[in-house]
This record gives sequence, C-alpha cells and structure tokens, in this order.
Amino acid sequence: MITERKTVAIIGAGIVGVSAAIWLQREGHEVILIDRKGPAEGTSYGNGGVLASCSVVPVTTPGLIAKAPKMLLSADQPLFLRYGYLPRLLPWLRKYLAHANTADTTRIASALTPIIGDSLEDHTALAAGTGAEGYIHPSDYLFIYDDRAHFASDAFGWNLRRANGFHWDELEGAAFRAYDPVFSEDLNFAVRLGDHGRISDPGAYVQALARHLEAQGTRFLRADVEDVVQENGSVTGIRAGGETLACDAAVLATGVWSGPLAKKLGLKVPLESERGYHLEFWEPSVMPKSPVMIAGGKFVITPMEGRVRLAGVVEFGGLEAQPSRAPLDLLRRNAVKAIPGLRGAHVTEWMGHRPAPADSIPVIGEVPGIKGAFTGFGHHHIGLTGGPKTGRLLAQMISGRQPNIDLNVYSPARFKKAG
Ligand SMILES: Cc1cc2nc3c(=O)[nH]c(=O)nc-3n(C[C@H](O)[C@H](O)[C@H](O)COP(=O)(O)OP(=O)(O)OC[C@H]3O[C@@H](n4cnc5c(N)ncnc54)[C@H](O)[C@@H]3O)c2cc1C
Repeated sequence: MITERKTVAIIGAGIVGVSAAIWLQREGHEVILIDRKGPAEGTSYGNGGVLASCSVVPVTTPGLIAKAPKMLLSADQPLFLRYGYLPRLLPWLRKYLAHANTADTTRIASALTPIIGDSLEDHTALAAGTGAEGYIHPSDYLFIYDDRAHFASDAFGWNLRRANGFHWDELEGAAFRAYDPVFSEDLNFAVRLGDHGRISDPGAYVQALARHLEAQGTRFLRADVEDVVQENGSVTGIRAGGETLACDAAVLATGVWSGPLAKKLGLKVPLESERGYHLEFWEPSVMPKSPVMIAGGKFVITPMEGRVRLAGVVEFGGLEAQPSRAPLDLLRRNAVKAIPGLRGAHVTEWMGHRPAPADSIPVIGEVPGIKGAFTGFGHHHIGLTGGPKTGRLLAQMISGRQPNIDLNVYSPARFKKAG
C-alpha cells in the first residue's frame, strides 16, 4: 500500500525504465513512460541476453593499463578504439583507468553484487503475470578457457567472485565435452555456475513487459524529453516537444544518453559508450546448451529463439560514428573458432552502446537538492541482469520506503556539481 499516489514520468523504455514502471504501477502510482524511439529500441534490444549474476568484476581490473595498448594494436583482441575519437575520450578514460586497482575493483564488485546477484529471481518477480515470463530461462552460465593455465590467469576475478558469495564447479577435457560437445577441442576448460539464466529474446521481452504496462493503464509517449521542470527544489514536470507534462517525480532511465538530462539536474557524470556488437546465426546448425562466455574473445554465446546470438567486444568511438567492420569480423572469426560447426541460414549484425560511468557503478537514487528527480542509468555490461532490481529499488524510493540495502554507493550525489 502506498501513502501517497504520485504521477511518475519515466524517461527511457529500456530494461531499467520498464522495470521501474512495472514496480511503480504495482505500488499504485500513475506511470507515464516516455521514449523517443520505443520500448527496447536502445541497448536493451541487442545485448547478450545473459542474466549474468556473477559478472561483478568490472573491466577495470589491476593490470588493464599494461595490457590495453597491446590489445589496441591487434585486430585479434576484443578491444578497439576509433582513434579520431581519442581526444574526446581522454578525460573519461583517465578517470576510468584510475579505478584499475585492487581496492577499487573490490569496492565495485561489492557494489554490483546486490544489484545483479539474484537476477533470475528478480526477473521472475518482475515478469510474473505480465505474459513475458516465457522469455526467462533458468540455466547454467559457463566461462570457457583454452585450458587450466588460461583459467588460472583470471584468478583475480574468480577470487573476487568467491569473496562475493559465488560458487562454481570446473569441467576439464572430457568432462567439458560431455557437458556440451558443440565447442572446439581447443577449448579444454570451463567454469560452470548454476542459478543463472538467459532471456531468449531481450528486445521482445522488454516490449512484452511494456505492452503489459500499457494494458494496465501506463501511458506511453513517443517523445524526446528535453528537460525536467523544477519549482522550489521539487520536480513538477518534464518538457518534451515544447510542451510540459506535469508529474511529481521523474526518473532518468536514459542509458548511455543520460548525460544531457543529468547535466540539467546539476550532475556531471563521466559517462561513455562502450560500444559492443552482436552477430546472430539464424536457424543455426548447432545450439549450445547454456549461455557461455568465451574468456579469450570476451564475448558470450547465447541460445535464443530461432537463432544463436554472439555478443561482446568493447570499442570506444562515441555515440555518433557508424559501426566498425573490424569488431564484427573478429566476432565472426571467433564464433567459428569456438564452435567449428556453427552455420546459419543467414547472419545478422548489430551494434549497441553500453552506458559506462567511469567508476563502473550504476547511478541510482534521488538527485540531492531536487525532490522527485531520480536517476537509474549507467549499468555498463550488466544492465539486463540488474535492470529489475534497479527498477524495484527506484519504486521503493519513490514510494518513500527505505530499501533494505545501503544505497549510498549508487547515489548520484557523487556527481553533484558544486554551486
Ligand atoms: C553487445 C552487448 C552485449 C551485452 N550483453 C549483456 C548481457 O548479456 N547481460 C546484461 O546484463 N547486459 C548486457 N549488456 C548491457 C545491457 O544491454 C545494458 O546495460 C542495458 O540494456 C542498459 O539498459 P537501459 O535501460 O539503461 O538503457 P537502454 O536500453 O539504452 O534504454 C534507454 C532508452 O532511453 C531512451 N532515451 C534516451 N534519451 C532520451 C530522451 N532524452 N527522451 C526520451 N527517450 C530517451 C532511448 O531511446 C532508449 O530506448 C550488453 C550490451 C551490449 C552492447
């Protein structure tokens, strides 16, 4: 039960915005969902579909600074840079790389665990009664290595996962092949985590959730939101298309595009796009049993409806540049290396933008000094996994209830501009 029924405008209809809308509607609020394109037209459309609860280790691990230049020089490494973008990237990059140390990585992993650690349960609760339940598939999640020595080279990340409560078993040689024979014989070692999951069509899933919202009375508007209107330190509306729409609270669930609106709320968030790619093999000749991460190539392979999707790679190049050829070519080479028998009736390609705050921690909470202004963005590589929990936390905060986790670490207060 809520004490006060509010009108809440949610800007952005990706997994975060749609999750927040569902939980707010269940709490009895009036919800307006606004997106300039449509539900799941942003990054939530093409991600790897993995409910990757164990993915608490950020990209910025110790040693990254030493490894990165060599990776950038090789077309066979899953890190790309559009060099023309480097001057614009540098201020963010400096801040980002400053976190590549043990203390910060440990702190980031502890912060991510409450947001993504129970993802399968969070999605199940989110989708219950919406008609979208069928897209959620409980499964193992495997990290596949060339061999045990290759796995051992990732010990830092696995120790951090263990410290955050994750458990796994190891499948080597024949045991791995018995688990799933589709993979190349060059891949001889796998880490298997239970209690994970996958979404069999991330775009269709978010769209089904959005349809449910509309059927339950949420108003959906296709509009480009230009500003959040405030009076006397409180939100009173949002501005879109030159018009003001009245509301008591507004949520920025605008993913990688959050910078301009955040700035209007007095936040200076160092936010970049970590561009990523997917390839889909339709009517595939073989289907892996579970979603897997190919550790060497930094991409996932996920069974999906009617196709297998390979998604991953990091490219820095900003929001405007067209997709690049080299990351897609690398994905295709690595696909065949990992699953030599993989063929498809046809193959489709996609590029998307992971919303990457420099400190790798999503920006969730009420903006200091502006009652009713909330943020829910910056989920990097784990937004599908952490969207439902983020949405639930936002609904609790907007309803004036205290969630049972410490929210300070996610607060937008850390980016509040002075003055
Ligand atoms: C290749 C790749 C693979 C990935 N794999 C996984 C994975 O396996 N598991 C996982 O958990 N995560 C994965 N991710 C990350 C995940 O997809 C993102 O973190 C997540 O989708 C972000 O969701 P969001 O709701 O914050 O943003 P989005 O889905 O991008 O939604 C933001 C929405 O806001 C709208 N918008 C922006 N500005 C405005 C405005 N001013 N007015 C109106 N509308 C606006 C946009 O149109 C967009 O629809 C992957 C990402 C990539 C690129």
